[in-house]
Amino acid sequence: MLRQYELVERVLEYDPDADEAMLNRAYVYTVQKHGTQTRASGDPYFSHPVEVAGLMTDLKLDQETIATALLHDTVEDTLATIEDIEANFGPEVARLVDGVTKLSKIEQMPENERAAENLRKFLLAMSEDIRVLLVKLGDRLHNMRTLHFIKKPEKRQRIARETMDIYAPLAERVGMYEYMREMQLLAFEQIEPEAYTTITKRLQQIREQDGGQVDAIALDMKHALAETGLHVEVSGREKHPYSIWRKMAERHVSFEQVTDIMAFRVICDDVADCYRALGVLHTTWQFLPGKFKDYISTPKTNGYRSLHTSLIYGKSMRVEVQIRTRDMHQTNEFGLAAHWAYKQGDRPDGAVGWLRDLIEIVDASHDAEELLEHTRMAIYQDRIFAFTPKGALFQLPKGATAVDFAFAVHTDLGAQTVGAKINGRHMPLRTQLNNGDVVEILKGKNAEPQMSWLGFVITGKARAAIRRAVRQKERAEVADIGQKLYDEIVTRVPAKIGKKALREALKRLEMEEPEDLFYAIGAAKISDRTVMEALVPGSTEDMAEEDDEWLRSGKSLSIRGLTPGVGYQLAECCHPVPGDRIVGLRKKGEGVEVHAIDCHQLATGIDNDWLDLSWGRRSRGAVGRLGVTLYDRPGTLAEMAGIFAQNAANVKSLEQTQLDHPFTTYEVDLEVQDLAHLTRILSALRASDAVAQAERA
Ligand code: MN
Repeated sequence: MLRQYELVERVLEYDPDADEAMLNRAYVYTVQKHGTQTRASGDPYFSHPVEVAGLMTDLKLDQETIATALLHDTVEDTLATIEDIEANFGPEVARLVDGVTKLSKIEQMPENERAAENLRKFLLAMSEDIRVLLVKLGDRLHNMRTLHFIKKPEKRQRIARETMDIYAPLAERVGMYEYMREMQLLAFEQIEPEAYTTITKRLQQIREQDGGQVDAIALDMKHALAETGLHVEVSGREKHPYSIWRKMAERHVSFEQVTDIMAFRVICDDVADCYRALGVLHTTWQFLPGKFKDYISTPKTNGYRSLHTSLIYGKSMRVEVQIRTRDMHQTNEFGLAAHWAYKQGDRPDGAVGWLRDLIEIVDASHDAEELLEHTRMAIYQDRIFAFTPKGALFQLPKGATAVDFAFAVHTDLGAQTVGAKINGRHMPLRTQLNNGDVVEILKGKNAEPQMSWLGFVITGKARAAIRRAVRQKERAEVADIGQKLYDEIVTRVPAKIGKKALREALKRLEMEEPEDLFYAIGAAKISDRTVMEALVPGSTEDMAEEDDEWLRSGKSLSIRGLTPGVGYQLAECCHPVPGDRIVGLRKKGEGVEVHAIDCHQLATGIDNDWLDLSWGRRSRGAVGRLGVTLYDRPGTLAEMAGIFAQNAANVKSLEQTQLDHPFTTYEVDLEVQDLAHLTRILSALRASDAVAQAERA
């Protein structure tokens, strides 16, 4: 804890005219009033206001603010009164303490009313004086730093949530990024302990593996810049676990896929050097063009100024670099507070414009809920709010589409979506929603979620529901094929198979439903022979061993319905495989061309004789053609190849047919056993995170 003289000295360092006696009185006052009260940590209570006052000196705030920080809990938690404060420290400090006290009272109100009510008073207080907000943010930051001492888990959770939802965004909006980051990190540890631990551990491992790589890269940059005569400070850090976790959640990727975990800061003497440094970095390392942002010529609304760029270091490591002057750095980290001159009259009016907007909304709002939604709209820049036609409100991440909205309303509604009206107009399902849109989802009874939606939905709920539905459908399709194969297997056993025999067989195979067996057959998870044995035990004993082998892996096509001796070939347009329904087209001098029955080429050969063909019972092995659309990022092609390998399918040819960022489409010719095999591969492809779409060509 800061000692009395240390605190006073800190203030005198940046404000030699400060009223030393008043600061001393405030320190003594808080120590006396809080007396023997203790914190959850066991420390004397007054250590808390003293630490908050210390935080305020880091921001170089005026003596009234320091006194307010020291006194901020006395009216709320001790016998002190506002009148008493005014008598001792004057009207300005009394007014500020009163502002902070009101905020604390609101925090203790019951949950539901409180949220909105809290914000309302909060904002009103700020409109009078932003110093109230700064003390409150300091108060919250110190409480977060000591959160782990609180024993009740529910209380820790509540405080952490509130910090994440209200205080961290507020700190961001006034540009206090240091406060924002620390609050987020501490709240994250509480709200998502497992994710926090995992990410922290992985970062630790990387640090051990690479031994000080951050420092090495920073040194590299410093050298490169020094060679051109630029003398700058370069510092590096790993991004903190919460921002990594957010990236993982936003992009739906694993830790390993988050490639930019390091960030560097180049501090220059003046603006010209910033641009010079940028030039040097861009010529020394490869940079990612889309990532460059110039917030020096166009500052953010909260006053933030810096150049941002991303470089590729080594083979594939992405590192973020921020370039700025020392002055900008100070302002960026502490926002408005850094602009804060010691006298209130110097307040930069423009910078609090957004607060004024909110205050107007506060005045115009009649009920607490409405206010909450409005204020959240302003605070959560990464969220949007959309309404159902009946006026129910849904909160979605920025970039969410009509399909995300449908799934947010209800999983069943999402599943039945066929179209959407946004603000009364028909719009494509992939349309990204804007704040305040009224979204009407059009339903179809027999509609089902489409694989292609995965290319544009962004919410976890929608993604999960679509995947689940697609998988179920695939399973049903495979079971369907399996049932046909089963009907054929049944004809091979020397007994009539009824429902009872099937039930017996299921018992022997330890399966529950006939669908389970059909699925197993369709997915080739069970051999014909096993099924026959289960249906009629002993029925395959005299089947030759070779026969069985041949049946399982032989590559042999036989087609029924052809005149013996006539040659045939499988059509290149539709690539039929055993299991597809087929017809033959007689070609002069070329024998018969075998097509899948739904091949569009058949329409052009209408004058030819159609031969009604079917596959021989034991036909295996043909080339099927697939169209596979992959996400355009490293590793997806390898993942597709892995799926082929796992399913023992041989790739005959692979050709990139379309490049439509962020997707790449390939045409793949694949040697497969039969339709069931091909279907199984399609299922595996569609289940993969690397694949946006997979169809037979
Ligand atoms: Mn406090």
